[in-house]
Amino acid sequence: ARTFFVGGNFKMNGSVESVKQIIDNLNKADLPSNVEVVIAPPAPYLGLAVATSKQKTVSVGAQNVFDKASGAYTGEISPDQVKDLGGKWTLTGHSERRTIIKESDEFIASKTKFALDQGLSVILCIGETLEERKADVTLDVCARQLDAVSKIVSDWTNIVVAYEPVWAIGTGLAATPDDAQETHKGIRAHLAKSIGQDQAEKVRILYGGSANGKNAPDFKDKADVDGFLVGGASLKPEFIDIIKSRL
Ligand code: 13P
Repeated sequence: ARTFFVGGNFKMNGSVESVKQIIDNLNKADLPSNVEVVIAPPAPYLGLAVATSKQKTVSVGAQNVFDKASGAYTGEISPDQVKDLGGKWTLTGHSERRTIIKESDEFIASKTKFALDQGLSVILCIGETLEERKADVTLDVCARQLDAVSKIVSDWTNIVVAYEPVWAIGTGLAATPDDAQETHKGIRAHLAKSIGQDQAEKVRILYGGSANGKNAPDFKDKADVDGFLVGGASLKPEFIDIIKSRL
């Protein structure tokens, strides 16, 4: 069975005070021992998050890394630096980086590979835009984004996939549990072809896009929804309800 996984992507939000507050809330909560939690604060707060987080099941990750170890890459952060601060994870391929920062499938794949090679685990984000959804190419887009990675990464042990339809992110309009399940199933079937049945069965596939404390339990019985990647609600106390949504 795949361990239920909840990620919190703070995006470019927060301050020393608010990050402390969120972590204090997590520290006080009675979290289930069988749910893996990763919080991804903005990079300046990684060290603070690692130092203050007390829960055994909560790890800290970055929202982005570069695909080089060090050097003249102004403004970038290396996987080693994330590890140096005690981070264990990074996101790659978030739709905001794909669309706003214009990161390509190849660049995202390269970062994913480099982060894994340097010993970080990766939450690889994929998903279609509204236009792509309307054109009925959701699975083609997901497959293309995944293939860029599977082309250069064969061991997916330390990858968690986050399916985040762009139209559902920050809109309050989450995918229905049925729609998410259908896409997750298609993603897993595609992975079975590219990385093998065995690995595909083990990869966690998270749903992301307006997940909250209220709707998270509705995904409970969806066989291929192995958790959530949460944006806005990860900044609020209801993040704990999402972590507990499978109890
Ligand atoms: P929201 O939960 O705010 O819709 O964001 C989802 C997301 O992009 C997480 O990475």
